[in-house]
Amino acid sequence: MKAVIYSRISKAEQSEFSLEAQVESCQAWIEREGYELYTVYTDNGFSAKNTNRPQLQQMLADLKQKKFGMIVIWRLDRLTRDTIDGLNMVKNEFKPNGVDFASVNEDIDTSTPDGYMMFTIRLSIAQNEREKIAERVMLGMKARARKGLRPNASVPYGYNLRQDLSLEVNEEESEVVKRIYQLYLEGNGINRIANILTEDMIMTKNGRVIWGDNVVLNILTSPTYYGANRMKVKGSEEDIIVRDMHEGIVSESLFDEVQHIAQRKRDKKMTFSSYDFPFATILKCGECGSNYYGQQRPTNRGGISRYYRCRSNTKKKECPGSTISEPKLYVLFRNFLDQFEFSTNDPQTNLDGKDVTKEIKRMKKLIEDSSVKKKNYTRAMGSGKLEYEMFLELMSEENEKIEKWKSELDKLDKLVPNTNRTKGDVTKLLNELRNTWDDLTHGERKIIVQRLFDAIVIKKEENIWSIIGFKLAD
Ligand SMILES: [Zn+2]
Repeated sequence: MKAVIYSRISKAEQSEFSLEAQVESCQAWIEREGYELYTVYTDNGFSAKNTNRPQLQQMLADLKQKKFGMIVIWRLDRLTRDTIDGLNMVKNEFKPNGVDFASVNEDIDTSTPDGYMMFTIRLSIAQNEREKIAERVMLGMKARARKGLRPNASVPYGYNLRQDLSLEVNEEESEVVKRIYQLYLEGNGINRIANILTEDMIMTKNGRVIWGDNVVLNILTSPTYYGANRMKVKGSEEDIIVRDMHEGIVSESLFDEVQHIAQRKRDKKMTFSSYDFPFATILKCGECGSNYYGQQRPTNRGGISRYYRCRSNTKKKECPGSTISEPKLYVLFRNFLDQFEFSTNDPQTNLDGKDVTKEIKRMKKLIEDSSVKKKNYTRAMGSGKLEYEMFLELMSEENEKIEKWKSELDKLDKLVPNTNRTKGDVTKLLNELRNTWDDLTHGERKIIVQRLFDAIVIKKEENIWSIIGFKLAD
């Protein structure tokens, strides 16, 4: 595959490090990884303050024409001044054009699934860091904003205006607001929600009974509803959010969840049913072998409860497998990760899976023996040595047994560990996952968990959950 090098040096940096050194280390990387060098783009004497650099623009144009499949740089700051901008350029411009990216100095290489995974983890941590800094800057803004009035004069639905111009929850209207959030979380669109409210003859703030889409949209997207004010700041592209300005009607986490769903709907990345549950489909029921699926519902306090449920646990078919809340599952999974590191030091456990293989052999043998029996019964019946009634009874007995063993076998197959990845790789990924878990979104957790595992089997015994088996992905 063809690879290109991008290098840049500003006027101020001329003495610090040379273009040659950048290109040389990129070249060495390209050779080592087995790519073919297509060309080198060099912006000499340009700073990274914007992307108005002739050779960078040329590279982006060539990229769209698919002239190469890999971009190699010496360090991210050659591309953009800000790490996050650089990582976002990779995610939003390189990757969608099928072009991979490597930064020699930062050990980034998006061309393998594991490498890309590490890359997204880094991006999300960098973004998180930036948000923390922004939060600190905002504290100052907040102090000033407290002295001021509301950013705009109209009174939002769900609230009354006090004498001092602060907001106070309107009990009756706030119930409608909660209902709107609940309806949205349950999968209803903006238009459907507006229709429901109109049908129920609920009054809007200005005394109308027809709810427009815009009114509903505003309620679902305004930070007012978790107690914050959104303010425009002169000279800044981003709005400032000032929290704790008044009593919220929904929690901030519920609000965020709604924004996240809306974004994914806009991106056409999901239907409601395929929502970001990290363990959806790979989590298996230790009672019946079915998949667990994720569900969520609003709680009375305005938060969200997320949980997993066995697919066979319905009104028709009843599996004794219990429902597990997401927080409980996370605790279980993290304990599992902790123990996993320990057991990988001992190569004979978990990754090896000898006992499972033995058990599979035994099941197969039982099924085979049973088939032989069935043949014998058929022969005996054919030659008149066995009554037809008796024959039917014996056959159904054997069939029942075979059925049972086969489902047992299915379960066991899912437990057979896979050793295509080296233990070192797995340990590295699991460590990364454990260390970054709290910083990741549901979606990012899903990418990583599902890249690592094909199956995780859980079971509750005497009120204690445990992971009774797992299968690593290829
Ligand atoms: Zn089940």
